[in-house]
Amino acid sequence: MSDGNHLNLKEELPLIPLKNVVLFPRVAIPLLVQRAKSIGSLDYALSQDRLVIFVAQKNIYDDVDQKDLFKIGTVGRIFEIHKLPDGTSKVHVEGIARVRIKEFSQVSPFFKARVELIEPKYASGIETEALLRTTVEQFRKLVEVRNLPMSTTFPELIDALEQVKDPQQIVDLIAINLNLELLDQQEILETTDVSAALKKINFYIGRELEIMDAEKKVVRETRKQLGKMQKEMFLREQMKSIEKELGLDGEKGEIETLRAKIKAAGMPKDTEAKALKELGRLEKMSSFSPEVSYLRTYLDWLVELPWSRKSTAKIDLKEAEKILNDDHYGLKKVKERILEYLAVQKQVGKIRGPILCFVGPPGTGKTSIGRSIARALGRKFVRVSLGGMRDEAEIRGHRRTYVGALPGRIVQGVNTAGTRNPIFMLDELDKIGMDFRGDPSAALLEALDPEQNFAFSDHYLEVPFDLSDVMFIATANMLDTVPPALRDRLEIIEFPGYTEDEKLHIVKKFLLPKLFKEHGLKENSIRFNDQALKDIIRKHTREAGVRDLERQTATIIRKITRKFVEKKVKAGLAVTPQTLHSYLGPVRFTHQEAETKDEIGVSTGLAWTPVGGEVMSIEASRMPGKGKLLLTGHLGEVMKESVQAALSFARSTAAKLGIKEDFYKEDIHVHVPSGAIPKDGPSAGIAMAAAIISLLTGNPVRKDVGMTGEVTLRGKVLGIGGVKEKILAAHRAGLKTVIMPAENEKDLEDIPREVRRDLKFKFAKTMDDVLKLALKNNRVPRV
Ligand code: ADP
Repeated sequence: MSDGNHLNLKEELPLIPLKNVVLFPRVAIPLLVQRAKSIGSLDYALSQDRLVIFVAQKNIYDDVDQKDLFKIGTVGRIFEIHKLPDGTSKVHVEGIARVRIKEFSQVSPFFKARVELIEPKYASGIETEALLRTTVEQFRKLVEVRNLPMSTTFPELIDALEQVKDPQQIVDLIAINLNLELLDQQEILETTDVSAALKKINFYIGRELEIMDAEKKVVRETRKQLGKMQKEMFLREQMKSIEKELGLDGEKGEIETLRAKIKAAGMPKDTEAKALKELGRLEKMSSFSPEVSYLRTYLDWLVELPWSRKSTAKIDLKEAEKILNDDHYGLKKVKERILEYLAVQKQVGKIRGPILCFVGPPGTGKTSIGRSIARALGRKFVRVSLGGMRDEAEIRGHRRTYVGALPGRIVQGVNTAGTRNPIFMLDELDKIGMDFRGDPSAALLEALDPEQNFAFSDHYLEVPFDLSDVMFIATANMLDTVPPALRDRLEIIEFPGYTEDEKLHIVKKFLLPKLFKEHGLKENSIRFNDQALKDIIRKHTREAGVRDLERQTATIIRKITRKFVEKKVKAGLAVTPQTLHSYLGPVRFTHQEAETKDEIGVSTGLAWTPVGGEVMSIEASRMPGKGKLLLTGHLGEVMKESVQAALSFARSTAAKLGIKEDFYKEDIHVHVPSGAIPKDGPSAGIAMAAAIISLLTGNPVRKDVGMTGEVTLRGKVLGIGGVKEKILAAHRAGLKTVIMPAENEKDLEDIPREVRRDLKFKFAKTMDDVLKLALKNNRVPRV
């Protein structure tokens, strides 16, 4: 190689612009000389000493000006040339030395320029030496990592590098082997400080190494993925052939059976398409895949649902009325409302409009009326309890991605019914919960709403199910806790509870025959005496409905059946009040009776609770103290307010009532001893006031009087709810008179005749009226 120092630079030299490449000293490259100007320079050089200045151009245009060229380039010598027929030439040049262009001495017909040599600046020292070594080392690493075809020449390059002693040359050699952009190459060419150039080179090597690394990673990942897929496919194929060998490919048959079932299920078109698609997935799956069993369960659900199976429902009002009457005693109003509802349905043709909701205490026949309706209409009956449901998913199902996912209760219910038009009873609507896992009542609304329920969406099914033919009936013990949005959709039918007489009838005509049958006994094998039945009703149960009555009677029958089987007694055995004890043990309820004597400071209130009406004794007593009010027993917040109101009334009218002034100095204690907390606290107001005034005046309250009503601070008596239930409770307890607010007189209509016969009803507008009726000595001063 020639040394730049021997160049004769005084003379001007021809110049060839380079596109997209930089020529470095002591590096040989091939070039194609095409442009007329360049051919001119080439010819000139060949006629001289073959030296040319090669300078990169800043753009890629053919026609370039001086200002399009970088100022620093390399003088090179042409050492090989092939002239091509089209006038262009292929040449090999070898870089000799870096030069800076001082001036252009000619631009046409070709470039000529005067240049000066650039001396590299090289500070030898430990630092540069270290830099040099790292650079070479890094480059070697890069060569090793780079697994590309052009790398075949690299080992030689490395060898060459190790021979080279000139740091500048090392920089140049590495630079042209780094795939650098033109600007980066030019920058290296222009960097005359060798350590700076080394640093730059180092940076570029580092960058290249990183890129290589990332590329390798991508390749590796892709390969891994591909490998896994291929392996799985291969194994699957192998397994299939093994299964075939072993005669295990019965799955095929199963798939085909499923396909036939899907086609026969009568699904809507889209649903069928979805089912077939899932079947296709199942078919392709290996039988050992855990997903297989999930998918099969899912398809089983889809296939079994009654997409188009229906009971041939008919509405025959006469028949319906007969069935309702056959199955149930009394409930006249309920039956009437139901028949009206059915009449409208019949007229309209489709179930639209409000949902029936049966409201009343337990055991009052709500469920069994529901069953009768199903029987009357020739539909299936299903029942789902909503009690304590907190999760929307319980109604609407879990998504299939959930382990052990199933459809929600609504779809399960329809599936149990096996037809798409059952009577669907939603029990305990009032006990539905609400918390962070979605609002179940919203899902319920969607199921109940005739505008939406033709396409009810269950999370598990993922396909809509048409609920518009389902007849929903809800039941609840009370309406207070039913979410208002739901309540709006309901047509309420109340089941108030039964009188003693009604219960006697029900047990004789309905419960006993049913129980005998269930126990495999003949009708007359046990003779229940009427008085014994009344005693069960009165002393062994305390309820608005007949559930406990049924249970107690069943206990007796069970015990006697055992004796029959053990042959200890003969058929025709009588159950009397005297023998009752031996079956049911001691009497459970006595306090249901009214107070046994007129007492000072004790009144009888009537309360409403979700399980029916209740009679409660309210006791007031006084003791020396500071005028404090003490409240104990089952007193809800609202009831406490009622006591306050009652006491305030007593104080404000103390003088007129003839109460001694100094009662302020005593503590008054009010206690409600028994029963559940009434839900309608304020209605205990007049009973509390009566007890307190009786206490303060020393005038006893009549024992056979029950009372209900709200009292204001000024002694007015306001209307209350739950009249029927309260009157039934008063009747059960054997009271003679019931004092009620005058406003409630209208509610007496629905009271059974026998109750009206036994009870006297008195209506009060003011506390004065109440006291006159309730206190024993009628000489009560007017207030
Ligand atoms: P609910 O659903 O209101 O809690 P059920 O319908 O379960 O009550 O009734 C409890 C039992 O009492 C059932 O065996 C039912 O047949 C019976 N029953 C309730 N009311 C009547 C009635 N009016 N006539 C005949 N049997 C009745």
